[in-house]
Amino acid sequence: MSTKRTFTMIKPDATGAGYTGKIIDRIINAGFTIKAMKWTQLSIDDAKSFYHVHSERPFFDDLTKYMSSAPIVAAILEKDNAVSDFRSLIGATDPSQAAPGTIRADFAESISANAIHGSDSDENAAIEGSFYFSARELA
Ligand code: UDP
Ligand code: MG
Repeated sequence: MSTKRTFTMIKPDATGAGYTGKIIDRIINAGFTIKAMKWTQLSIDDAKSFYHVHSERPFFDDLTKYMSSAPIVAAILEKDNAVSDFRSLIGATDPSQAAPGTIRADFAESISANAIHGSDSDENAAIEGSFYFSARELA
């Protein structure tokens, strides 16, 4: 088992509801080390670029409007099995299907405003992290 990285965003519904601190606590208590973190807001074009893999999906317009509507917190996290352990910590995309005790079960509003992002592969974690952070910040 090697130490690996994943990428996360605390999404606008959760930053707006004041859950940022509680969610960061959950992440640290689950054994992740924060390697980089920033509070920022996406433009609509930033959101379209970040989510371009979903550009053909019916929810793309709503998703990109929502993700650019208010601040997010972006972070690079490190842990053994970071990508899969983080997906377990956040729970299913639809909070009504998310396991009890997961971040989405406890903090998400809906399938679209679902509190938090987690990368789905090592490759995408690297791509998504470098969307937000410079090479120096990622070192
Ligand atoms: N999403 C949505 N409606 C859907 C599926 C997804 O609004 O039916 C949004 C939701 O915010 C989700 C994001 O699009 O987190 C990316 O979708 P994906 O299938 O990659 O889910 P995730 O990896 O975030 O669980
Ligand atoms: Mg995804």
